[in-house]
Amino acid sequence: MKVSRRNFLWIAGAAVSGTLAAKLGCAPKQPPVEPGVPEPADQPVIAEDLRIQYAKTVTTVCSICGVGCGVLCYVENGKIVATEGDPDHPVSEGSLCSKGSALFNQYYVYNEKGEAVPNPQRLTKVLYRAPKAKDWEVKDWNWALETMAQRIKKTRDEYFTEKNAAGATVNRCTALAWLGSAMCTNEENYLFQKLGRALGITNLDHCARL
Ligand code: SF4
Repeated sequence: MKVSRRNFLWIAGAAVSGTLAAKLGCAPKQPPVEPGVPEPADQPVIAEDLRIQYAKTVTTVCSICGVGCGVLCYVENGKIVATEGDPDHPVSEGSLCSKGSALFNQYYVYNEKGEAVPNPQRLTKVLYRAPKAKDWEVKDWNWALETMAQRIKKTRDEYFTEKNAAGATVNRCTALAWLGSAMCTNEENYLFQKLGRALGITNLDHCARL
């Protein structure tokens, strides 16, 4: 059996507590076996009723902070039906903090009947507010990506500096800023900042300071 660091601490703690309790004469007694009460092996098997039994498993990264814990999403008919920590993920090895454990509720909330319904506060479309406009417009991803690419190129072409006032080579563009995302993995953020540096951008940051 593979024993993780967490399991090892739990087993060691349980063993020490049990030995101490026995020495003090206060170890819990085994409950008496009552005739007619089924043994655990005789209990009905309920695994077939699990709501994830027909779901497809998709791996992803927790979208809340920059630690980047691994998450398993169980998807059925295009909808997430459950989430849990990914035991094979090298960063988190299956554990999630209380926020990550509640990740399912980013996608769903419960109505008064206790049914999970899509969270109305979750953004699912690209929203764009033009300069000086006060209203948001719904746009598609192709428009958003193309517009960003065009504006980045235009700004870089206009403001890229090869040399500073002293004549030293700087190859920089200070008119652009580049912000990483906690919704990406470390590797994705690494590639993202490489692209920013390749463009000569010096104002690079990340919401989790990665
Ligand atoms: S599970 Fe918690 S620690 Fe891990 S990425 Fe999500 S919010 Fe951060």
